[in-house]
Amino acid sequence: MSVLVYAENTGGKFKKSVYEAVSYARAIANQNNTTLTAISIGDVSSDELSALGNYGAHKILNVSNGQLKNFVNQAYAAVLAKAAEAEQADVVVISNTFSGRGLAPRVAVKLSAGIADGAVSLPETADGKFIVKKTAFSGKAFAMVQLTSVNIVIALIPNSYKVIENITNAVTEDFLVETKESDFKAMLKEIIKSADKVSLPDAEIVVSGGRGLKGPENWGMIEELAGLLGAATACSKPVSDAGWRSHSEHVGQTGIAVSPNLYIAIGISGAIQHLAGISSSKVIVVINKDAEAPFYKVADYGIVGDAFEIVPKLIDAVKAYKA
Ligand code: FAD
Repeated sequence: MSVLVYAENTGGKFKKSVYEAVSYARAIANQNNTTLTAISIGDVSSDELSALGNYGAHKILNVSNGQLKNFVNQAYAAVLAKAAEAEQADVVVISNTFSGRGLAPRVAVKLSAGIADGAVSLPETADGKFIVKKTAFSGKAFAMVQLTSVNIVIALIPNSYKVIENITNAVTEDFLVETKESDFKAMLKEIIKSADKVSLPDAEIVVSGGRGLKGPENWGMIEELAGLLGAATACSKPVSDAGWRSHSEHVGQTGIAVSPNLYIAIGISGAIQHLAGISSSKVIVVINKDAEAPFYKVADYGIVGDAFEIVPKLIDAVKAYKA
């Protein structure tokens, strides 16, 4: 057996979640006395690729094929399944990112594999069985799933495993793979980015506003703070339902799930449906005038007070720090 990890790139670069997934996959390889292969699909520089060898990959496969430049669920899943077969990989690790969440079950079907999506810790292995702790019920609970199939796909939630440096001097090889027309039934034609905005699903920092901001006219300070921090903006469901912000910013059980390093919640009560979308954030900062707001129960840092006084002070402090 061996382990395969998918290194997802964002605009040709690997994010921290990729190094977490490689470190995690290497730990699984160590548990099973086997090797780890990392695979990248798309346009990634050789320097960026070789960085995967700093976190434990023994071999790096590079799939650089014009048709696969942009993420296409079915086609990427087909490539990963073929790579798993070629590498005789019984375990495939994928980051539980926006695209990883669609990819992992497709790869599992192709490999007739058991799947643990939303994994949060290293599997326990006993008698050849994998027992994986994963989130359940939109992040409100954890479940221990036992995978008894020969092949296993694990989708690891970003921020749930640490990056471990482990230099292997891995070699990079081109992995040539033929794709089928049927893998391109759904194609990404164009990425339309809001001007100068950070993409929310994969943002490292998110500044999010709720109904406590009173109206859309008050979002200037949210955007200014986000701009200064290089953050994406987000909101609670009632805010997008009211049309104050676009639905693409709605975070939670019925919206987008995010896993940033820092989530700043401003004027959001912290209802369970909102928390479902942000619970894997590494550090949560809450600004709310109600000291009893439920959000404070999950906050790492809290500022009790009026957002209209606190946010401008924060903006000034960040500007002063950057000056
Ligand atoms: P509120 O609950 O009105 O809270 C506003 C907060 O702002 C309060 O805590 C208040 O103290 C604070 N505040 C007010 N003024 C200020 C001020 N000047 N300064 C600082 N703080 C201030 N919600 C989601 O967000 N995402 C979801 O995906 C989602 N899915 C749902 C699915 C279902 C099936 C259901 C039933 C509900 C769902 N909801 C979802 C709605 C959720 O239950 C809450 O109603 C919602 O999250 C509340 O939004 P809010 O915190 O912005 O507003």
